[in-house]
Amino acid sequence: MYIGGESVRSATPLPVEIPFDGAAFATVFRGGRDHADAAVQAAANAAPLMREMTRDQRSQILRRASDSILEQRDALASAIYSETGKPIREARIEVERASYTLLFSAEEAHRLVGEVVPMDAEAAGKGRWGMTVREPLGVIAAITPFNFPLNLAMHKIGPALAGGNTVVHKPASTTPVSALLMARIFEECGLPKGALNVVTGPGGEIGDALVEHPQVAMISFTGSPEVGLRIRARAGMKRVSLELGGNAAVIVDEDANLDEAAARCIAGGFAHSGQVCISVQRVYVNRKIRGEFEDRVVSGTRKLVVGHPKETATDISSLITVGEAERVEGWVHEAVERGARVLAGGSRRRATIEPTVLADVPEDTRAACREIFGPVINLNSYESLDAAIELVNHSDYGLQAGIYTRDIGKAFHAAQRVHVGGFMINEVPQYRVDQMPYGGVKLSGAGREGPKYAVEEMTEPKLIVWKG
Ligand code: NAP
Repeated sequence: MYIGGESVRSATPLPVEIPFDGAAFATVFRGGRDHADAAVQAAANAAPLMREMTRDQRSQILRRASDSILEQRDALASAIYSETGKPIREARIEVERASYTLLFSAEEAHRLVGEVVPMDAEAAGKGRWGMTVREPLGVIAAITPFNFPLNLAMHKIGPALAGGNTVVHKPASTTPVSALLMARIFEECGLPKGALNVVTGPGGEIGDALVEHPQVAMISFTGSPEVGLRIRARAGMKRVSLELGGNAAVIVDEDANLDEAAARCIAGGFAHSGQVCISVQRVYVNRKIRGEFEDRVVSGTRKLVVGHPKETATDISSLITVGEAERVEGWVHEAVERGARVLAGGSRRRATIEPTVLADVPEDTRAACREIFGPVINLNSYESLDAAIELVNHSDYGLQAGIYTRDIGKAFHAAQRVHVGGFMINEVPQYRVDQMPYGGVKLSGAGREGPKYAVEEMTEPKLIVWKG
């Protein structure tokens, strides 16, 4: 662990495995409540130092860290592919994105402004000057999932530091290594001791300790809705931002560019074996072009290379654990028992599921209505655009959705009616660049990430009124 600028070990080692084959690759240590408390104390001690830094000092540290990520890209990409099992090509992209996330955060450190309040818009305000300044909240607990262990952590740590806060980071138990490498990088880039702390170990114990700790001002959480709801229920007056899951849908209309739509659905459904919160899970295809579209998706899926994540030729590797792969396999079986057809894939070997295309999946099976978080795409037909919009909205989640059509009228008709945090026209829902506002409605969460938006949530507007 990394607490107050020191490496800390407990008595209990935690092996980290490459999920593809179970090979041991690193060892970290199991922290507990005491380590969480010590990390919060270190972060609270460093808070005055961060608060007093100039915006430029904070920006410089973030900019240096952004550069260092690129200088250490091989080590970081290797840690990411090993701990997550995502193909090395995707791990390298994550590293590049994490560098951008810190660059955008560095820029926000410079930009963060308050506003002048027009006090005399009311007679009682005559002679008063009002302004807001943005102040840091203090200690922020950043709790992150396994699927983008570096970039999603930077989406919390970057804006938190840009706003003058300090951080306790709790990475997922399966993917703690890149978090610890990043803590070292920040130290080398001049971040004061205690401004960033990393506690590894079980989410239940450490997460609860952070959520309940009186000195933690905000919980910034990315992960499953189940844990998000638990945090929300226990956080009391703390600020909480929740980036949760989804079962993202895309509409492919009769006038779409089918080659492009099929290629993007394949990429958007199978990247990181579908373990992306905005993975393409439900594809609603206009019945008139269903056959042509299906052929393209199936033939493209069959060309994907399944293999070890370290190989550059690999498109699809394993899920995060054997247990998760068994769960996905079970959901596929359930859909098939209920009448769905397997058009491609469908089998499992250890933690790896072949890229799978299902057709005519009943809407009330788990493969359709829950977040599958595996390499499975459902193809279902629709008769009218409004019927397709209804199907997209018939979900407990609302992170992102999309439509493929050449008709701008239809595109905006759908954009206005689909209830999600982000809507993509001629792009799959699994699209994100790191500066855009990103987050969901319904069970997909509350709050927005992207450094410009996160830094707003991680700072408090303080009003100052002066009577001249
Ligand atoms: P998860 O099981 O919810 O875990 C996320 C984090 O929460 C981990 O660090 C976990 O620690 C910790 N945790 C577990 N129990 C906790 C508790 N009681 N209190 C506080 N923290 C606790 O999620 P995951 O399986 O790692 O990730 C997959 C989920 O994340 C999917 O639902 C996916 O859609 C979602 N996700 C959302 C976004 C987004 O931006 N909207 C992005 C990526 C992923 P342990 O690992 O030690 O259990």
